[in-house]
Amino acid sequence: MNYQQFYIDGEWVSSSGTETIDVLNPATDEVIDKVSAATTEDVDRAVKAAKKAFPSWSALTVAERASYFKKLKQALKDNLGTLADLMTAELGATTRFSHDVQVTMSINEMEATIRAAETYQFDHYIRDALVTAEPIGVVACISPWNYPLNQIQRKISPALLAGNTVVVKPATETPLTALYFAKLIDEVGFPAGVFNILTGSGSKVGTGVASHPDVDVISFTGSTEVGEKLYAAGSKGIKKIILELGGKSPMLLLPGGSIKTAVKKTLGTIINNQGQSCSALTRLIVPKDDLKAVQEELLAQLKDVKIGDPTLEDTDLGPVVSAKQEETVLGYIAKGKEEGATILTGGNKVDCPGHYIEPTVFVDVKNDMTIAQEEIFGPVLTVIPYESVEEGITISNDTTYGLSGAVVGPDEDEAVAIARKIRTGNVMVNEGAVTADSPFGGYKESGIGHEKGVYGFEDYLNIKAILR
Ligand code: NAP
Ligand code: MG
Repeated sequence: MNYQQFYIDGEWVSSSGTETIDVLNPATDEVIDKVSAATTEDVDRAVKAAKKAFPSWSALTVAERASYFKKLKQALKDNLGTLADLMTAELGATTRFSHDVQVTMSINEMEATIRAAETYQFDHYIRDALVTAEPIGVVACISPWNYPLNQIQRKISPALLAGNTVVVKPATETPLTALYFAKLIDEVGFPAGVFNILTGSGSKVGTGVASHPDVDVISFTGSTEVGEKLYAAGSKGIKKIILELGGKSPMLLLPGGSIKTAVKKTLGTIINNQGQSCSALTRLIVPKDDLKAVQEELLAQLKDVKIGDPTLEDTDLGPVVSAKQEETVLGYIAKGKEEGATILTGGNKVDCPGHYIEPTVFVDVKNDMTIAQEEIFGPVLTVIPYESVEEGITISNDTTYGLSGAVVGPDEDEAVAIARKIRTGNVMVNEGAVTADSPFGGYKESGIGHEKGVYGFEDYLNIKAILR
């Protein structure tokens, strides 16, 4: 496949410019391939194509639009291995995680969104008012590198099923998975212009797509820093904005709760994807009296974590996505030591080629330390003790973020009551886990709007009242 092309108006086309960007494998630093950097002219072409396709695509029935997605879902299943291998190469996620979680999750969530679209009540009456939901227009989809397929799937499935058209700008670190997804979309035979994708830097191409006057919705997943910029950019022309941003999510262990469960769930999010998940439970908040037992359990569960070549079936932890990410993560580890936290385990770069960092656990952490407040986006956990449950809740909420969270306790009803007090868009209780249709979205600086299922779908609709 020629990854230097863009997919615009139903065709693979070359950039009007000549600049290219190398795509690197973080396990080896080898160049895997290269992509083109789109020009302003390319951006304009893609947005124009989406705008042109909108009237006919939005006029189709939901069943007609869903028929394309059913084929696309099958194409994802048929290409699961190829997609998983691509993202392992460009992201560094382990083969197991790419295969069993990353791609599989995209298939399941696409299916859930099809279900949400097919069962959605587009029309209803409020007394004499006919209230109807309609597609909005052209959606700019800007995605991060950590889930290179699913962050795009989570946008284009609801946006297109609702009748909008899209222009996608994937992350520069992971454009190959995105372009391969575009190849599948092309093969399914979506009408020309409905889906468009181009590559290039966020500062140029991302900004260009988001601020284009013919774009009606900006749907962004990434850092809060860039999210703020896009929020401002969207004010020009009063664009609708959907932001899925960063997190610093708490795992709150209640007195008498299963230490094993709390540690297992927490470490799952720190090890899988090298901790590069927005919803990672990066603050393990525990009763002071349990601190020693929690530390022992952490060491026991980390003992057998296998770090290394992400393509090997038994690897648990691969490299972080890039040299830059490695530098960021190691910088935070240094900062944690400087601010007086103690390293229980890890803390170092692994001495081999590629960007591997040991799973790192900090204890003696105070919630106002940088490592407890800022998103590290690497395999780094902070353990924070509390005296009373009230204090545990306060610490859980003492962050500018509000994305995810978890509560583990001996009494499930009590744990649910405490989950209600956690100011985040998702809270898992004990063995509870997110599902393909459960809504996902942030409180506070973690975002605006939702993804997945019916709530994600509704974000791509306008509401009209017809009065007669
Ligand atoms: P990022 O630096 O914010 O970039 C995200 C996307 O925005 C990339 O495609 C990037 O392009 C583009 N971009 C950068 N600057 C831009 C600008 N000024 N205007 C328009 N687009 C711009 O985030 P990242 O480093 O890729 O991903 C990590 C972050 O994403 C973390 O903070 C994580 O928490 C967050 N995240 C949130 C969720 C969620 O659902 N809430 C899910 C996953 C990740 P380039 O790649 O070219 O820089
Ligand atoms: Mg970036």
